[in-house]
Amino acid sequence: MRVLVWNGPWDLTIGSREDPEPGPGDVLITVAATGICGSDVHGFTGENGRRKPGQVMGHETVGHVAAVGAGVEGLRPGDVVTVNPLIACGRCAACAAGAEQSCQDRRVIGVNAEIVSAFAETLLAPASNVMVLPETMPLEYGALVEPLSVGYHAARRGGCSAADAVLVVGGGPIGQACVLAARRSGATHVVVSEPNPHRRALAGSLGAVAVDPGSDGAVTDALGGRATLVLDAVGSTASIEAAAASSGFGARIVLVGMNAPRIDLPAYAVSTEERTLIGSFCYSAQDFRETAEWVGRAPGVLEHLVDGRVDMAGAAEAFTALAAGTSGKSKVLVFPHGLPAEVDGR
Ligand SMILES: [Zn+2]
Ligand SMILES: [Zn+2]
Repeated sequence: MRVLVWNGPWDLTIGSREDPEPGPGDVLITVAATGICGSDVHGFTGENGRRKPGQVMGHETVGHVAAVGAGVEGLRPGDVVTVNPLIACGRCAACAAGAEQSCQDRRVIGVNAEIVSAFAETLLAPASNVMVLPETMPLEYGALVEPLSVGYHAARRGGCSAADAVLVVGGGPIGQACVLAARRSGATHVVVSEPNPHRRALAGSLGAVAVDPGSDGAVTDALGGRATLVLDAVGSTASIEAAAASSGFGARIVLVGMNAPRIDLPAYAVSTEERTLIGSFCYSAQDFRETAEWVGRAPGVLEHLVDGRVDMAGAAEAFTALAAGTSGKSKVLVFPHGLPAEVDGR
């Protein structure tokens, strides 16, 4: 089968791998589309040291079941499926608590170099990580379940409810997922601060009020006060400062963005005004399942999220443009078997 191989910084080529065979408990999936994640882009440039040369990345995927291994029930060839890429051990304390994202023995499709992942014509995944989606849903929505689950988990970690005035810092794909999750959780006041005008327009179409962080007082004006919950989808010193400055005493600040491994914290904003800083990483199996169910209902708002589509031959160019910041695209999908007929490409 054909795959996209990451050879090293800024070097992605089409290669080939043996056609995988499903072993006991495995599902073989014909990949229809796989999204390019920010973490893949950082892997591509080499900034993210977790990717290894020779690796096949890709973890935001949708496809059809091609075959199942022995012992697999409830999945049939032809089923539309997405894959929860987080493979947890199922035996540790974190797994028992339903916090698979904290499993110390987890392996992640698209991250662990030994797993040939979803930028490929086919993907092998454990049946327990494969989720059936309705055939009536636009197929490519299935590739959005994974990034949307990240936002959903962040909103749940923050205890988001209808009572909250929510600020989302950053309007990239994770910020967009946070907006949709906050709206799903009943929040009606959702503001996004994002410097890029395209991303602001997109956030607006998702039901948020989008403001430019450069303009003074814009966030509090849009919220009609201070945020009670901040979802920081950036994760930098500047974003955590903005989160503190725009939120009221006692606010919860969820750190989901991973821009930098170390940041400066406005400590007194946490201590003297009793804000709570909450970490959020990936999603639990339940978050993923609930998000897959929501995506399966094909809420109309999802039509705004995918704005770029390429085949294998166009993937290197798409990665390069995303990494160089010249793309202007937010979520680009790679179609390993070629672009669907109704899509005109870039
Ligand atoms: Zn991702
Ligand atoms: Zn575990």
